[in-house]
Amino acid sequence: MHCGAQIKKMGYLEIDNTWTLFLDRDGVINEKRENDYVKNWNEFSFLNGALQAISTLSNIFGRIIIVTNQRGVGKGVMKEGDLVIIHNKMSQEIKLNFGKIDAIYYCTELSDDSDCRKPNIGMGEKALIDFPEIELTKSIIVGDSCSDMIFGERLNMKKVLIGNGEYKFDSDWQFESLYAFSLMIL
Ligand SMILES: [Mg+2]
Repeated sequence: MHCGAQIKKMGYLEIDNTWTLFLDRDGVINEKRENDYVKNWNEFSFLNGALQAISTLSNIFGRIIIVTNQRGVGKGVMKEGDLVIIHNKMSQEIKLNFGKIDAIYYCTELSDDSDCRKPNIGMGEKALIDFPEIELTKSIIVGDSCSDMIFGERLNMKKVLIGNGEYKFDSDWQFESLYAFSLMIL
């Protein structure tokens, strides 16, 4: 598989609590900062409808797991502790809005060869160890980049691309936002 392949439309899926949702973070949950990183909580901004979407999706999926590349730490632009604080505050906000995140995996490595850096599948493998009940054929990755789609492809998950339609990577569905995806799942 390569980036830029045709989108194939999938039919209706029956999702229940045996399913697992994998979420990319930047560009899906919060606003991506172009050519920069979200380095502290002040720079973190939830995308429109994301909190509501996670709340809705929490009632449908058995597990919600975040998998995020955070190379800013490896580059020394921010500290791992800053990332942990951001994730704690993000989880708090999600909880206050009746959503739940079961785990957050992040990869701070610089090298594209690193096992944990998407599109490599290290973070997915870690999730499978921590949550042995996960069924990959009953898992969906939602991401906004090609590396998310390849990550999902390698793990045999369903793939949902968040994007405005200007670019298209190989995905099973494409939606404008996590919120739009959550409306479809409902
Ligand atoms: Mg992203």
